[in-house]
Amino acid sequence: MVEKQLDHIPQRNNELVDYEIEKFRKLKNMDLKNKQILNLISLDGKVAIVTGAASGIGFATAKLLAEMGAIIGLVDIDESKGIDATDQIKKSGGKAEFFLCDVTSDFECKKTVEAIYKEFGKIDVLFNNAGVIKRKSVLDLNEKDWDLIIDVNLKSIYLLSRHVIPIMIKGGGGSIINTGSGWGIKGGPNAVAYCAAKGGVVNMTRAMAIDHGKHGIRVNCICPGDVDTPLLRDEAKQLGIDEETFMKEAAERPLNRVGSPQDIANAVLYLASDLSSWVTGTSIIVDGGGLA
Ligand code: NAD
Repeated sequence: MVEKQLDHIPQRNNELVDYEIEKFRKLKNMDLKNKQILNLISLDGKVAIVTGAASGIGFATAKLLAEMGAIIGLVDIDESKGIDATDQIKKSGGKAEFFLCDVTSDFECKKTVEAIYKEFGKIDVLFNNAGVIKRKSVLDLNEKDWDLIIDVNLKSIYLLSRHVIPIMIKGGGGSIINTGSGWGIKGGPNAVAYCAAKGGVVNMTRAMAIDHGKHGIRVNCICPGDVDTPLLRDEAKQLGIDEETFMKEAAERPLNRVGSPQDIANAVLYLASDLSSWVTGTSIIVDGGGLA
């Protein structure tokens, strides 16, 4: 737009001086605008916890938040992948540490949050993202797997939040982002515990937003559609479907492709940053139109 306005180059000398002054003024203003936009989306100096950070959506998000200036506590139960993910972020200039933690254990969640607080001095963002899925109905799911799905996808949000929120209150606020799913809004076949857990995440998000808004803590949920990660590809295995056919079917949606972890990370960045300063208690569906 500004470039277009600058297209016309004046001919006379005095006009040329005016033109240069005007051009400088416009570029200066543009620079100011860019700085304002960057300020809104920057996470400079913020401390963010990302769970399930060793893989897929969690890793892409940890990377992006680090690129935007945040110090990241990567949390995962998979130690070797977690360390590898952390090293990759550090190598590209990000600040990050790995914390081995089973998010279904209150003891481990407490220990991890205390360690992150001790190391970085505050916590501004909590991305509750660790997840697992079993593609089974009520008739074939055993009790152990029911508990696992509910504990990793739902209970972990309660466990981590109960230790993080007091720290956020001390720090004057924060942003909690929970990973739901399209299947937290509508049901899906052979995924009964997962649908129950994700439906719980969506409504728990609303309840948490109501409780903690008075302390400047925003709580939102991100609901991805099918995203190309190990979790999605493992579903094909669980269902006994050829992976290529499964992924092709998953791409059948208005935008005609499955999501990338980056697609979800971008939306998490919005919710983590000041761009979303008046957004709380909501679920953002990021699914290429799958639920449309
Ligand atoms: P992923 O398998 O790539 O990553 C999940 C991560 O969670 C893994 O690194 C795993 O080690 C970790 N994890 C599992 N159990 C844990 C535990 N007890 N403690 C700590 N970490 C644990 O999967 P993803 O697709 O990136 O999934 C991330 C989130 O997105 C999940 O909550 C998932 O339900 C949700 N989601 C994914 C899709 C999709 O299509 N991929 C769609 C909707 C929602």
